Amino acid sequence: LKNYVNAGLPKESDMEIKEKSIQLKVPEGTKDSILVKNLYLSCDPYMRNRMKKLEDSYVPSFEPGSAISGYGVAKVVDSTHPEYKNGDLVWGMTGWEEYSLLTAPGLLFKIQHTDVPLTYYTGLLGMAGMTAYTGFYEICTPKKGEYVYVSAASGAVGQLVGQFAKLLGCYVVGSAGSKEKIDLLKNKFGFDEAFNYKEEPDLDAALKRYFPEGIDIYFENVGGKMLDAVLLNMRVHGRIAVCGMISQYNNDKPEATHNLMYIIPKRVRMQGFIVTDFYHLYPKYLEMVIPSIKEGKITYIEDVAEGIESAPTALIGLFIGRNVGKQLVVVSRD
Ligand code: NDP
Repeated sequence: LKNYVNAGLPKESDMEIKEKSIQLKVPEGTKDSILVKNLYLSCDPYMRNRMKKLEDSYVPSFEPGSAISGYGVAKVVDSTHPEYKNGDLVWGMTGWEEYSLLTAPGLLFKIQHTDVPLTYYTGLLGMAGMTAYTGFYEICTPKKGEYVYVSAASGAVGQLVGQFAKLLGCYVVGSAGSKEKIDLLKNKFGFDEAFNYKEEPDLDAALKRYFPEGIDIYFENVGGKMLDAVLLNMRVHGRIAVCGMISQYNNDKPEATHNLMYIIPKRVRMQGFIVTDFYHLYPKYLEMVIPSIKEGKITYIEDVAEGIESAPTALIGLFIGRNVGKQLVVVSRD
C-alpha cells in the first residue's frame, strides 16, 4: 500500500510494486518461523477497510510503505518451526509478495487434501468457504423448505451459501450485478431464481415478486438500499446473517438504514459475525465439503488474475463487480 484510502474507490496508484533482494532462508537465530513462497493470493472485500486509517478495527490497517497482507496459499521453503518442513503447503495469512517470512503457526492451516485444485484454498476450502458454512449453518440456523435470499450471490461466499441452501432443500433466490452472473446463479449453482439488482428500480417490488410469502433467511453481503428493502420483506422469526456490507466500504460513513424497526413485529434475529471466531469448525467443514466437491454436489467458479502485478486491479475489481466468482491472483504455480 502506498497511502491510506479513507473514502472512494481505490486506484491502482494507491498501491505500488517494490523490489528488494532477500535471502531464501529464515534469518539466523529466528525461532518458530517459516519462509514461504506465495502461490495464490486471495482478494477479499474486508481488505478495503484495511486501506483506511482506522484505530478501532478488528483487523489492523495496512501500513503505507509495507507489503499488503492477506489470505493466500503458499509453500514452505525454509523452516525453524518444529511443525513445518520444506515442501509443506499452507493457507492463511501471508503477504502480497513473492516470498514471506511468517511466524508460525499464526493464522495458518496446513493443507492436507491435495487431490482438489490448490486454488480452492483461497476460497471454497479457505476463508470464504468457512464464511459461507458458518454464516449459513451457525448464524442462519436454516431448516429445510425455508425461503432464502442471498445478495452478491455469485461471489466467493454467495455462490456457496446458495448451494448449501439448495442441498438442504430450501427455496433460494440470489441477486448479482450482471446478466452473466444471473445465468451462472440459475444454470450453474442451481438457485431457483436470480435477478440483476442494477436493473430493478424498486428493490422492494423485486423481492415481493420472488418472495410473495416473505423471506425466512437473508444472507447479507451488500447492505445499504438492499438491506432496507429486505427488512420490509422478512417473515415472522426470520434470520438475517450480517456477513458484509460491501456497498458501504468505499463510503466515509455508512449510509443510514431506515427500516430496522420492522424486525420487531416480525421477531427477526439479525446477527453479525466474523469468520475467524469459527475456525475451530474447519475440520468439520472439510469433512462435509470435500466429499461434496468430489461427488460434484458443490461447484466453484474462480476469477483468476495472472501475476502479482495484476493484484491491485484484481482487488479494486471487487468494488465494481468486475470479478465473476472468487477473485484470486496467481503469483506462481509451483
Ligand atoms: P465477492 O466475491 O462477492 O465480490 C464482491 C462482489 O460484491 C462484487 O463482485 C459485486 O458483485 C458486489 N458488489 C460490489 N459493490 C457492490 C455494491 N455497491 N452493491 C452491491 N453489490 C456490490 O466477495 P466475497 O464473496 O468475498 O464477500 C462477500 C461479502 O462477504 C462482502 O461483504 C465481505 O465483506 C463479506 N465477508 C465477511 C466475512 C466475515 O467474516 N463476516 C468474511 C468474508 C467475506 P455484483 O456484480 O453482484 O455487484
